[in-house]
Amino acid sequence: MAERDYYEVLGVSRDASQSEIKKSYRKLAMKHHPDQNPDDPKAEEKFKEIGEAYEIVSDEEKRAAYDRYGHAAFKNGGNGGGRGGFHDPMDIFSQVFGGGGGGGSMFDDLFGGGGGRRRDSSGKKRGSDLRYDLEITLEEAAEGVEKELEIEKYTSCGKCSGSGSKSGGGGAKPCTTCGGRGVVGQQRGIFIQQATCPECRGAGQVIADPCGDCGGDGRKQAPERVSIRIPAGVDDGTRLRSTGKGDAGMRGGPGGDLYVFLHLRDHDVFQRDGDDLFCEVPLPFSTAALGGELQVPTLTGRATMKVPAGTQGATTFRLRDRGMPALNGRGTGDLHVEVQVEVPTKLNSDQKEKLQAFTESIGEKNSPVQESFFEKAKRFFDS
Ligand SMILES: [Zn+2]
Ligand SMILES: [Zn+2]
Repeated sequence: MAERDYYEVLGVSRDASQSEIKKSYRKLAMKHHPDQNPDDPKAEEKFKEIGEAYEIVSDEEKRAAYDRYGHAAFKNGGNGGGRGGFHDPMDIFSQVFGGGGGGGSMFDDLFGGGGGRRRDSSGKKRGSDLRYDLEITLEEAAEGVEKELEIEKYTSCGKCSGSGSKSGGGGAKPCTTCGGRGVVGQQRGIFIQQATCPECRGAGQVIADPCGDCGGDGRKQAPERVSIRIPAGVDDGTRLRSTGKGDAGMRGGPGGDLYVFLHLRDHDVFQRDGDDLFCEVPLPFSTAALGGELQVPTLTGRATMKVPAGTQGATTFRLRDRGMPALNGRGTGDLHVEVQVEVPTKLNSDQKEKLQAFTESIGEKNSPVQESFFEKAKRFFDS
């Protein structure tokens, strides 16, 4: 691994003050803390790199040696007196954040606690949050619907009731390989690289009499059917959380949460904007002129709309409360119907004659849209 400049790693200049360095470290360490990035394997490495850089640069003596000799100062036998090994980046983190050796508690406080912790003294570990993308129809969004999803996840082991122990009595004892820390250090060049403990797989504890079904984890990878209630009024992008329905925790730890992201399928007739719906409906030109009734679609079936005489093309009518229900249960949107006046295309000679006669009888004075148009466009025609 190439060694990056410590100042660059911390995002500070070479003459930065200790308070600037600390401030920058705090920001970066929180951002890259493995608990905040459970799905990013690179975060742990990044977090370690930041910890190492901070360990050197925050110590004036080590910093001076680094400024003079660079990374060579901390190689075995170097002039800086370093012995090649660095402290656990979690310990550095705890020192800076005042966690007092417990590791994590301060972090939990800063981030509102809850899911942040990865393991506790009994080797329990919270399960991961899961995401499920679900497409629903506009009708389903309007009425609400119950859906059954099949989720690929870790489910609690039925044989040991999630304890991981064959006798069911827990039987956990600290892992001797990692001393209960869940991670082991490996010398890689000048760095001590940390890896998840292969013996306890990060739990920090081993089960004395592991369950034959789950090997002591208390959970197994198996699909599970989860039913969720989708309330009326949801929209594209609505996110529903099902508490505890994510991955089961390790050895009886709490389950993660399941997040269902909703996607709305395009509708053939309606467009949606918030709680309002929009559609276009063809209007026969005789009805547009004479007025009458028009059948329009709504989410719950057909409705009859009155069209006044002399309706122009592209006029929009609003049907109150025929839109989508509001998600909070308060009120309903409207349906906006835009009429498109339809001109007949297949006229027989008799009809053509009648239309001709009609045109002569009506004269030029009965075209309100045309009149206002020519009024506005006068200067284009007069010149
Ligand atoms: Zn089991
Ligand atoms: Zn271990």
